[in-house]
This record gives sequence, structure tokens and C-alpha cells, in this order.
Amino acid sequence: MPIFYDTHAHLDDADFASDLPQVIERAGAAGIATLISVGTDHETSAAAVRIAGQYDNIFAVVGWHPNDAHKAPEDVRLELQDLALNPKVVAIGEMGLDYYRLPKVTSDAIGAEVEQIKQIQARVFRQQLELAAELGLNCVVHQRGDCFNDILELMRPFADKIRAVFHCFSEGPDALARVLEMGFFVSFTGIITFRTADIMRASLAAVPMNRFMLETDCPYLAPEPHRGKRCEPAYLAETARMAAKVKNCSIEDLSATTCATAQEFFKKLNAS
Ligand SMILES: [Zn+2]
Repeated sequence: MPIFYDTHAHLDDADFASDLPQVIERAGAAGIATLISVGTDHETSAAAVRIAGQYDNIFAVVGWHPNDAHKAPEDVRLELQDLALNPKVVAIGEMGLDYYRLPKVTSDAIGAEVEQIKQIQARVFRQQLELAAELGLNCVVHQRGDCFNDILELMRPFADKIRAVFHCFSEGPDALARVLEMGFFVSFTGIITFRTADIMRASLAAVPMNRFMLETDCPYLAPEPHRGKRCEPAYLAETARMAAKVKNCSIEDLSATTCATAQEFFKKLNAS
């Protein structure tokens, strides 16, 4: 059976509270051999580390999601560093910017509020980039809404000090070229199976075989034919089937290249 890595899952999510052992068992049965559980704030990051401690094939990423940045301490580096020293922590994240849920600017007051939210997101993002550079850990980057240019500008000073993956990559080939040019990677979710996702399939078609990974982002973004239901790592098999079709390669080749890329990118996967 072809083996795949789910490089981005939220296994601590309340949606998995009642049946996580079965979810992990189904993943194994579907060939999803290694799972990376990603935190979005201090509590969920600590939970990801805890889950990783219970299973040999599960690893953790610790960080502050931009949508939680307003709850973060003034400096997130200290508490994250503590978690990041755990041998099962393979990267910092998810970090980044999210302008998707910003309030609509209909007055100067709301404009000022939006500016402040953006500044907080940028500060928490920059602190995590610094920590990743300092610890030699990779970055898992979240990007949503009209923030692509701002993200690249914030990352530019770090480009030769860090390695990063743009998770749930949802942009077109032009944006992809800019990400690749900076030396970064991308990963694709079950969205590539959606009928309307031509632009993401165009990016997937364009990305070199050794520069992308696969993920579920579960419990969100279940691929077809499970769309709209709770997503789980086992469903990565559906995403892989579509990815092989888009890349015009065999499922075995896709398995070999995406697993090798994940091993190479998340260096600490190899240490275990
Ligand atoms: Zn996520």
C-alpha cells in the first residue's frame, strides 16, 4: 500500500475528543503512516506535544495562529521555546497572517482597529520567525485573505535563516513562483479535490515534485467524497489520488516523493 504523511492535522481538536485512538488506527489502515499535529495557541500546542508523546508516529508543531494572536503574551518566544525543545516538536507554527476575518472598514475607527489587529498579527508572526531561526526549526505558515505580499515582506529578512512551508496553499501559479523563489515549500489539502479548485490544481501542476507535501488540515477541509463532514487523516488517501492525477504520476511515485520531501523538510522526523 502506498504510504503518505499527513503533515498538518489538528488532532487535539474537540471533534476528535471521543474517538482519537480509532481515528489514528484508521489513518494507519489507510497508509497514512506519520501524522503531524499542529497547535494554534499555547493550550493546543501543549496538547499537540502531549498527543505526540503518546504515539511513535505522531509529531507536533507548536505556535500561535494569527487568528489567536490577540490572546498571545507580549512575547511568545519563551513559552514556545520550552515546548519546542521537546524532541517530538518538528517545527514552529502555525504562524502567519490572516486578513480574511478582519472587520470591514466602514469608518476611521474601524480602520484604526484593523490596523491594530494587523500589527499584533505581524508582531506574533515575527517573534516566531525569530525563534525558528534561533532554534533551527522550520516554519509552518498560515495565510488567508489579502495578506500574501505582507507575509513575503515579513519573511524576506529571514529567507536565508529559515525553511518554511505555506500550508493549505490556495494561491495560483504566480504566487507559487514567488514562494518557490524564496526557497520555501507548499502543501496541499483536500481542497484540490473540489470541483471549483482549478487555481489550486494549476499550482499543484506547476510545483516541482520535490517542493510540495500533502496534508488534511483535519478536522477541516474534508476532500471529496467526504466534503462537509469531519475530516480525518485517513481521508488523505483521496487527496493523494487527485494529486497523482494532477501530477500525471503513479500513486507509488507520489508516495515516494512526498514522503521524501516531508522527511527532508521536517528534519526531526528522522531522529526518531
Ligand atoms: Zn491548520
